[in-house]
Amino acid sequence: MAVANLETITKEINTCQRCPLGAGRSHAVPGEGNPHPELVFVGEGPGQTEDQTGRPFVGAAGQFLEELLALIHLKRSDVFITNVVKCRPPQNRDPKPSEIDTCTRLYLEKQLAMLKPKIIVTLGRHAMAYFLPETFQISEVHGRPFRRHERIILPLYHPAAALYQTSLADTLRKDFSRIPRILSKVS
Ligand code: URA
Repeated sequence: MAVANLETITKEINTCQRCPLGAGRSHAVPGEGNPHPELVFVGEGPGQTEDQTGRPFVGAAGQFLEELLALIHLKRSDVFITNVVKCRPPQNRDPKPSEIDTCTRLYLEKQLAMLKPKIIVTLGRHAMAYFLPETFQISEVHGRPFRRHERIILPLYHPAAALYQTSLADTLRKDFSRIPRILSKVS
């Protein structure tokens, strides 16, 4: 049942023209993974490789995300991976507040209602700002779980940031290594 409903949302996303991003995409990127996940990862929005393939986190940042998942003995198919906006912003610009508002209200919130993860792991500041709108600095709160409206939100740096700053790669590895313990506390 949950799977059928997720598929319905996926189909809606694939034909969506509810914000200007729909006009410029090659493929929408609805998200993919385990329909009954403990963890849902939410990034910012598709990049070029994702736009070409219709799959989330398949470029360089995605390879690092897979390495991070492997550290805690997980594969992509064990978790669900998606973004706050499902279509690529032109030239990889930041998604606009109106685009985030439309896409999360129509799609991300419905996906989360079906997926019912134990923890929502945000990757980068846009996803963090959506779930934790209290103007936190990611440098101050990364790796720390927050309870909001019956959900557990774990803000992490974006894996793409770590590609340019090696110290962040270590920080991300450390934060990932805490996930199993955080999960065991909410189970
Ligand atoms: N960066 C994101 O935020 N999401 C993707 O899907 C790929 C790169």
